[in-house]
Amino acid sequence: MKNQIKNVAIVIGLTILAFGCKGNQNKKEINAPEAFSVKNMDLNVKPGNDFFEYVNGTWIKNHPVPQDKSRYDAFEELAEMNRENIMDIFKEISASKSTSTDVISQKIGDLYKSGMDTVKIEQLGTKPIDDFFSRVNNIKTIADVQDVASYLQQYGVAPFFAVFASPDQKNSSMMIANTWQTGIGLPERDYYFKTDDASKKIREAYKVHLAKMFELLNDDPKTASANAKTVFDIETQFAKVSFTNVENQDPQKTYNKFTLSELKTLAPDFGWEQFFKSIGYPGIAEVNINQPSFIKGFDSMMKSVSVDDWKIFLRWKIIDAYAGYLNKKFEDQNFDFYKLLSGEKAMPPRWKRALDVTSGRMGEAVGQLYVRKYFPPESKQKMLILTDNLKKSLKNRIENLTWMGAETKSQALAKLEKMNIKIGYPDKWRDYSALEIREDEYLGNILRSNKFEFSYNMDKAGKPVDRTEWGMTPQTVNAYYDPSKNEIVFPAAILQPPFFNPNADDAINYGAIGMVIGHEMTHGFDNMGRQFDKDGNLRDWWTADDAKQFEAHTSLLVDQFNKYEVLDSLFINGKLTLGENIADLGGLTIAYYAYQASLAGKNPPEKIDGYTGNQRFFLSFAQMWRGTLRDEFLRTLVNTNEHSPNKFRVNGTVFNMPEFYSAFPEIGPDSKLFIPVEKRPVIW
Ligand SMILES: [Zn+2]
Repeated sequence: MKNQIKNVAIVIGLTILAFGCKGNQNKKEINAPEAFSVKNMDLNVKPGNDFFEYVNGTWIKNHPVPQDKSRYDAFEELAEMNRENIMDIFKEISASKSTSTDVISQKIGDLYKSGMDTVKIEQLGTKPIDDFFSRVNNIKTIADVQDVASYLQQYGVAPFFAVFASPDQKNSSMMIANTWQTGIGLPERDYYFKTDDASKKIREAYKVHLAKMFELLNDDPKTASANAKTVFDIETQFAKVSFTNVENQDPQKTYNKFTLSELKTLAPDFGWEQFFKSIGYPGIAEVNINQPSFIKGFDSMMKSVSVDDWKIFLRWKIIDAYAGYLNKKFEDQNFDFYKLLSGEKAMPPRWKRALDVTSGRMGEAVGQLYVRKYFPPESKQKMLILTDNLKKSLKNRIENLTWMGAETKSQALAKLEKMNIKIGYPDKWRDYSALEIREDEYLGNILRSNKFEFSYNMDKAGKPVDRTEWGMTPQTVNAYYDPSKNEIVFPAAILQPPFFNPNADDAINYGAIGMVIGHEMTHGFDNMGRQFDKDGNLRDWWTADDAKQFEAHTSLLVDQFNKYEVLDSLFINGKLTLGENIADLGGLTIAYYAYQASLAGKNPPEKIDGYTGNQRFFLSFAQMWRGTLRDEFLRTLVNTNEHSPNKFRVNGTVFNMPEFYSAFPEIGPDSKLFIPVEKRPVIW
């Protein structure tokens, strides 16, 4: 949970399939997630009253959320199996360690081992970061504050804003440096201002957490509670000038290229030249400032907040960044607060955490071993055929859209034609040989890994985009669309049941992985993706009239989702989730027609388990999204994430499709979730 919050800047720009987790590809039976099964359904529920519950009711009853999780669903089922499989790889590495000359495998083994070595972790305590604290202690002037904050940036602490390189959205073949607002410790700016009870409770608990962390850093209770107040006040000031999560989704609003001299005018009290020098990139001449009003607000805080208060704030940022890798007392306190956001009842066992860290930090090194062992090459061939069929289906849909004119259509088709597809794993693997790993220094490894990642990313600023690079590891159960590269990417780990099942009939596969492919393709044409052209440049290629039509249809979807109440007085944000909801509706629609095309010239498929092919298509889609989540996580998700909760991804999609009503003729105007024709958007 916490990592999801912190990694926001890293995934900027990519539209991912689901709120993240990690996963795999299997060969063994243990813990393998179930493929589609009618046994998971609850036939006591009428499909028209709650299709999600009708398809998944029995599965939900039989799968309570495990203690160490905030949710349980097909993604999590795969992630669990994945861990077991990756663990097998680690065991093989460790068994061959004394004889092996493979340094990368050794690094993987040592990183995992260091994460398991709790004796050493306890012994070291905060020692690996004591240097950071003493740098803070030695601060005398506001220039020193800026210097230390810049220095920390290289080690994964971004006290004021994060800096990173990503494709220039108006010149998509080149990489550019960016700044992204940070400053706050709660997941999102609104947490500082909302007046509902749940938000107030989280704020109060956060203040207690801040004080406790300062006490763990050996402040006396009185000082610790004063420091907590100082931090909370500073963070509230940051929150006030932060963009909202809806503003952050607006590619035009977040595109603001500044030269260094223009930056000095925008924010004269921050030493920009010195900043880029301190982080090791003195040559940077232009930067995309994603949130200019934030930088302006932050700049005036350079004058209004005292040096002493900044020192307190920096101490907090350091301990918050590393608490999860420290000795038990820090780790426990950290979990104690963040469980209020995730709903987890217990920390996942140590081996899982150390494994996730290793699999994340040495992502493509682990990925390379993983695909060798678990990814059948035939899967790639089958996926190529499926993606090609989905492309044809979307092409056909675009050609026949009644609301779009010929001019925009030809641009849309050109974009679809040029859309690149990546399946399984990268052709070129990342090199980790420069990353130093020691078997007895967990946090030290994390610091070096942070520095390694920082340099790896920032070295690209001002250079051409590397199109071979992947934004996800092969062992991740997820998928994404990258608007700047105009490409869709499917890691190996998602290419297994219940998403992709070589042994199932076509209806099942088109309803699941077919929909996933369609979903990612549709992201190229959702409210954000449509603003990028075929070459990945942010450029308006729509006629004014077609753009208006698009808005008219999508606003129906915004209204629908705004009305979904997920917990008492907690409603889905229709604007925040619009891109994902468009991708779900478009994805399922084009998958449906790709399935129909696959049946052309054949006899209609026989009923299986009493369901027609078209029914099984929709059942398979709904079952892929089976899942339950804890209320705390649900709240965090709805407040921060662009994906609607699974139940609404299903019900909010199928009831907009005329094809669904044809497949289930018993659903009609008297069904609870029935949507009248004039209220159903037709987008893709
Ligand atoms: Zn998506």
